[in-house]
Amino acid sequence: MPRKKNAQSRKPRFLEALGYALRYRCPNCHSGPIFQGRFNHVRVRCPACGLPYFREPGYFVGGMIVTYGLTVGVLVLIYVLMPLLPDVASISEPVKYALWIAFTLVLAVVFVRPAYALWLSVDYWLDPWAAPKSWTSAPGA
Ligand SMILES: [Zn+2]
Repeated sequence: MPRKKNAQSRKPRFLEALGYALRYRCPNCHSGPIFQGRFNHVRVRCPACGLPYFREPGYFVGGMIVTYGLTVGVLVLIYVLMPLLPDVASISEPVKYALWIAFTLVLAVVFVRPAYALWLSVDYWLDPWAAPKSWTSAPGA
């Protein structure tokens, strides 16, 4: 795959790229949205510049791994801090398990979009790929 960008003349700084990612914007033109519809539905390509968001089949498995890592990181942090919460000891074990499971599912859903956008944007920042030379916005792109 060609290794050049055609919408931006300079490579953004890393923190700049993270900022665009967390606003769910295209890593190439910084204006087109990455997501559409439901929480984890990534567009096929940027509607503004045409950059394909899927480099290869299974591309967003990396985003799933980032989602998992963020979720586990937060859960471990909260687990470590649990002894500091005095009222937790009075909750029964089954209720604790139910709360942990519910909290885990909520965290996973909350982290899907940031994780996918970070995966796409950091990958593009490290190794940019080309958008089509001529692109006209198409509905549903
Ligand atoms: Zn774009």
